[in-house]
Amino acid sequence: MTDLQTLPATTVARLRAQVSGPVFVRGDAGLADEVACFNLNGGVHDPDIVVGAASTADVSAAVRFAVEQDLAVRVQATGHGPGPRAKSGMIVSTERLTAVHLDPTSRRVTLGAGSQWHRIVTEAAPFGLAPITGSSVTVGAVGHTMGGGIGPMIRSHGYSSDWALGFRLVSADGEVVTADPQTHPDLFWALRGGKGGFGIVTEMTLELPHVPALYAGRLIFGGAENIEAALRTWVDWLPAAAGDVSTSIALAPAHGAGGHGDLQLHLRFVHPGGAEEGAELVAPLRAAAPTVHDTVGELPLADVHSIHGDPVDPMPLQSFCTELTGIDQDFVTAFLARLGPGTNTPFAESEIRHLGGDAAQDVINPGAVGGRGGALMLRLVIEDPAVASRASEIAAGVFADAGDRKFAVTNVNFAGSMSKRPAFERSWPESMRRQLAEVRATYDPNGLFPFGPGPAPAPDAAPAAATGTDGMALAPVPVPTDDRPRGRRLFDPRSWFAGRS
Ligand SMILES: Cc1cc2nc3c(=O)[nH]c(=O)nc-3n(C[C@H](O)[C@H](O)[C@H](O)COP(=O)(O)OP(=O)(O)OC[C@H]3O[C@@H](n4cnc5c(N)ncnc54)[C@H](O)[C@@H]3O)c2cc1C
Repeated sequence: MTDLQTLPATTVARLRAQVSGPVFVRGDAGLADEVACFNLNGGVHDPDIVVGAASTADVSAAVRFAVEQDLAVRVQATGHGPGPRAKSGMIVSTERLTAVHLDPTSRRVTLGAGSQWHRIVTEAAPFGLAPITGSSVTVGAVGHTMGGGIGPMIRSHGYSSDWALGFRLVSADGEVVTADPQTHPDLFWALRGGKGGFGIVTEMTLELPHVPALYAGRLIFGGAENIEAALRTWVDWLPAAAGDVSTSIALAPAHGAGGHGDLQLHLRFVHPGGAEEGAELVAPLRAAAPTVHDTVGELPLADVHSIHGDPVDPMPLQSFCTELTGIDQDFVTAFLARLGPGTNTPFAESEIRHLGGDAAQDVINPGAVGGRGGALMLRLVIEDPAVASRASEIAAGVFADAGDRKFAVTNVNFAGSMSKRPAFERSWPESMRRQLAEVRATYDPNGLFPFGPGPAPAPDAAPAAATGTDGMALAPVPVPTDDRPRGRRLFDPRSWFAGRS
């Protein structure tokens, strides 16, 4: 594909005249800001041209221009994704596409592709409605849902994509296409979990479940004995956990006043129901050990972000993930020995989310979600690229401890960069991957929207560079040291709490 710098300025001027949003070419002030990423680990984008789309028509014009000029097209909403970052071609930035139309009567919301979850959470909450989000509400709703989407209510309400009713997207010929159960059902299937390479979504319609009450929060345990007791209690409690209760645990260093960096165990509990029933359900976990903080209680729907308390400032995040079929007390022993108090763990978070649950498994029209059959998601996260090499070794040990409890598929939103073959191939079962490739070939026959690691190497090709346990590069991608904008601060949740205290 060609490099735009060889094209005459008049060609770019023609595009500028066709779109209502801004157009930046390499070297323009404002380009770096326009494509700044939340996740700094993947480095920065360095495309030839960026279109800040302000409408679906802008997206169509941008795609047509890219076809004409032979430029690959990538799309970015928030930059939470792990990359890869563009080194040429076009980026269509969707951050201006933020229109939200919520109809409380039909419990439907149609949102622009630049919408972050917090906007829909805030608008829906007064009606007792709750979008099925991920743990972070600054993540883009469309990018998240296109991967399936595992959130704090995964067991009671399933994947975010299970609530998708339809999409509007611009396909590789610049045409606007609707994808819903009646129109282009193959595309509708693929957009609900297949992640990328189909076109640029400009709008998504979701059903919003009615959640009359939420009993949720975090039990935080400190001290090696309490942490071990709480973790062992949780693992024993899991097999009989109610199908509509979602829980997860995370070992994380204490932050802020009173914290000395010692590890704490956060046990998150979410019951979409009343306080009386919720208190009964959480009682065995609450009784596991004394807590440092206990925020589990009636939670306003608008405060769903406080359950995990994910970071809101840009940072270089890298994670090592695998789904599991189950865990037992031997796994806990090994987990604590590698990651628990006294290990000087490099991880900012060592997390296990309980998946499964009826809602997540028994879906009539499940889309292309990879990893739906896993029972748990194990996720080890670093925030400092300097520790990546040590973290990768430890993660490999933890994964080896899991042995045959490792599930073959890990959901794409957690699998790492799709440019890495192992991560790509682990994100869907082979038959689903093949089906997704067929849909991509139908809607993007010339590969305008790059996705995946490219063609498989020939059998006698030199071995690929070593990768981490989940297919991520062992060496961190360097964080930029120049003075360009370092990242995108998205939203400061108003009740950002204390849980990482
Ligand atoms: C702090 C943090 C917390 C997270 N928590 C969760 C979680 O709880 N559950 C979960 O499932 N995932 C989680 N994720 C992963 C997240 O859902 C994915 O990285 C998601 O792709 C981010 O979407 P985005 O649009 O915000 O990011 P971007 O980096 O802007 O986009 C990522 C990718 O999404 C696709 N995409 C985005 N918009 C469009 C569009 N309009 N049309 C076509 N393709 C598009 C593209 O492939 C793009 O490369 C988390 C990530 C981070 C960094």
